Amino acid sequence: MKKILVLHTGGTIAMKEDSITGGVSPDVVNPLMAAEIAIPQEVELFVEDIFNVPSPHIMPEHMLRLKNRILKAIAQKFSGIVITHGTDTLEETAFFLDTTIGHLIPIVLTGAMRSSNELGSDGLYNFESAIRVASCPEARDKGVLVVMNDEIHSARYVTKTHTTNVATFRTPTLGPIGIVTKQRILFMQELLETEHLDTNLVEGLIPIVKAYAGMHGDLIETLAKSPLDGLVIEALGAGNLPPDTLPAIRLLIEKNVPVVLVSRCFNGIAEPVYEYEGGGKELQDLGIIFCNSINSQKARLKLLIATNNQLSTDRLIHFMQS
Ligand code: ASP
Repeated sequence: MKKILVLHTGGTIAMKEDSITGGVSPDVVNPLMAAEIAIPQEVELFVEDIFNVPSPHIMPEHMLRLKNRILKAIAQKFSGIVITHGTDTLEETAFFLDTTIGHLIPIVLTGAMRSSNELGSDGLYNFESAIRVASCPEARDKGVLVVMNDEIHSARYVTKTHTTNVATFRTPTLGPIGIVTKQRILFMQELLETEHLDTNLVEGLIPIVKAYAGMHGDLIETLAKSPLDGLVIEALGAGNLPPDTLPAIRLLIEKNVPVVLVSRCFNGIAEPVYEYEGGGKELQDLGIIFCNSINSQKARLKLLIATNNQLSTDRLIHFMQS
């Protein structure tokens, strides 16, 4: 028998819609606990309600608890993990686990866009698909996976793209790495390994700032007055910033605060290409670290993991770019 550990954390998948007010909130008993689903014959499920919170309440400390539970489960010889999670921050928990745990047993996150008693509720279906993927041998060594709406995405690049549509999870630029069909689990591509780094601390102040036309340096200047451990900037296009922001960024870099840049574009990666004032080349010369191909919320977690490991500047740059 294959032992699969299910960790419920909350989210819409564990919620109900009120028939009078239409409001959606957590149910007294997680509806997934009593759910009747078809699980593969060779699978034995072990279920734990590790916590029950909407995912905007998820903190890095919750991610740490999940990671520690998974490491224990690996030692207990579980062959796969399924985590149910609110979709709002699902990609962040998935990314944190992918970065800290690495490519071991299948770890699959899933959620729902419609609560358990709504018409067309997708929770049970996604839950069943996630169990099928977590128990399939091909899902090993693929890193942490997100299974929603018949698609398998890698935690590294997947992101929530729609407020309500059940097809909300997408992987910009690359697409899903596999699909779930009625009979099979099919993987169509594989990611290259990146560097994994574990942590048991998630402390530090690392905000995200988004660039826009007409941006001045005042917001970054204000941030520079607080005890920042790092800053992530969602820059324009291929990785450029309005020139007025540069003096404040210089201030941060002089204080040895790591400043990491990603693009605010949905597709593609940030690169130091442009040579005009505020262009990527100048930003790189200033000491800004270009973190290619992940979005700002993931870059923030990566920087949090790096700073809590107290990496040297060279190691930190290498890790952020890997
Ligand atoms: N707001 C909900 C949450 O993230 C959305 C969901 O689960 O789909 O907890």
